[in-house]
Amino acid sequence: MTDVVVVGGGVAGLVAARDLAKGGAHVVLVEAGDRLGGMIRRHTVAGLDLDLGAESFATRTDAVERLAIELGLGNDIVSPDPRGAWLMTRDGRTAPIPQTGFLGIPGSPMAADVLAVIGQGGGLRAQMDSLLPSPIGARAQSLGALVRKRMGERVLDDLVVPVAGGVYSTHPDQLDPDRVAPGLRAALQREGSLARAVLALRSRATAGSAVQGIGGGIARLVDELVADMATYGVDVRLGTRATAIERFAVETVTADGTVERLPAQHVLASTPDPARTAAPDRTGIELVTLVVDQPELDAGPRGTGMLVHPDAEGVRAKALTHATVKWPWLAETAAGRHVLRLSYATRPDGDGTEPAGTGTSLPVDPDDTVGTRATRDATALLGVPVTADRVVGAARVRWYGPDLTAAGLAEGVVGIGETSSGRGLAGIVAAARTSAARILGS
Ligand SMILES: Cc1cc2nc3c(=O)[nH]c(=O)nc-3n(C[C@H](O)[C@H](O)[C@H](O)COP(=O)(O)OP(=O)(O)OC[C@H]3O[C@@H](n4cnc5c(N)ncnc54)[C@H](O)[C@@H]3O)c2cc1C
Repeated sequence: MTDVVVVGGGVAGLVAARDLAKGGAHVVLVEAGDRLGGMIRRHTVAGLDLDLGAESFATRTDAVERLAIELGLGNDIVSPDPRGAWLMTRDGRTAPIPQTGFLGIPGSPMAADVLAVIGQGGGLRAQMDSLLPSPIGARAQSLGALVRKRMGERVLDDLVVPVAGGVYSTHPDQLDPDRVAPGLRAALQREGSLARAVLALRSRATAGSAVQGIGGGIARLVDELVADMATYGVDVRLGTRATAIERFAVETVTADGTVERLPAQHVLASTPDPARTAAPDRTGIELVTLVVDQPELDAGPRGTGMLVHPDAEGVRAKALTHATVKWPWLAETAAGRHVLRLSYATRPDGDGTEPAGTGTSLPVDPDDTVGTRATRDATALLGVPVTADRVVGAARVRWYGPDLTAAGLAEGVVGIGETSSGRGLAGIVAAARTSAARILGS
């Protein structure tokens, strides 16, 4: 009998399968698609190899760094350009994201870079946080409610909505503070104010940049994981979709309709339970990548990019990454051209059952509706004209996250990945490795 069946070949499944096989387990990994990596993937635009999903990892844990070192990529870990990103408020104002904040919550509400965004009145209201008793807001159900109670509407709408909302593609009123800001509530109780809690969390974070990348792209992690899995003998089955995930078995079907039941001592799943129906109101993210030849962008007018208030006037994009400013290795490869990545909120085209982590490529041309919208948004966000005649390459892909309403797995099945550990490589890699270690130790 197989020791472990791992469902899903995204980073969570790959990390777990590699560790388990390295530890001596016989592992079968089933992946519905025809490639491994899930939301970590590269594509080639205008001859440049670019990450088309995740492009960095948070340094709030050292999990990804340790993994990268083990995979022989330690010397290629890079920090982004220190210029940082900017934000755009609801009324279209642009400003650098204040330096001492966390998810947009200011650690110093009266600092000049904060007042530049929220004004004197907003700053004074935010400063009241230091006078309020610590229990106020401490039990709030959402990040939005917590910030609103402690620091007021201006901080929430001008700073936290674009920053936290941009990172998680959701209004802070929908974000669970314990998930997106672990330790914030406890720090508020301990420190007596939200601003001091933010400063305490920041001082605990690893010195240096909040995120890092890999020279050549995050997709190199997947290349190395896949190579290691081959070395350690993982039985990888592409084009094999799990249709039932049970405690001691996984049922699969291949494209030609072959059904198989795979018994195992342990089952790890990085996908929701396929037996549950998908929620029709799932949202997704559409990324439009433009490679442009526009020397006016050389100065990096908005640093590493922009996070945008969802209701910002005249702009549809939710975020823009100026990738060739953010990553010096990419600027070098791009040899004077610029890579801009714009993200848009999107809804499934079909019935909401699009699988998570596959990424659908769609056509885009600088002169079509999508291309025109992207160049217009890039112009508005960067304050520099980005015109279709300067676009030397464009690509467009849609991503859907897992259907979290269907996240409950059968008892005894070990949940890993975004479905169970939340969004982002830092948490996912750490949790997948812990799950694998537990199985090896059992
Ligand atoms: C555009 C974008 C940018 C991002 N940027 C960052 C970033 O910069 N930093 C960061 O930390 N995170 C980022 N993320 C989030 C991060 O990429 C994900 O949280 C992470 O890659 C998810 O990994 P996973 O293994 O849990 O799931 P996935 O990568 O979704 O992998 C799941 C795999 O399971 C397969 N599958 C699904 N159903 C089945 C089934 N029934 N049977 C078999 N296989 C199945 C899918 O085909 C897929 O390959 C980004 C995400 C997106 C979409």
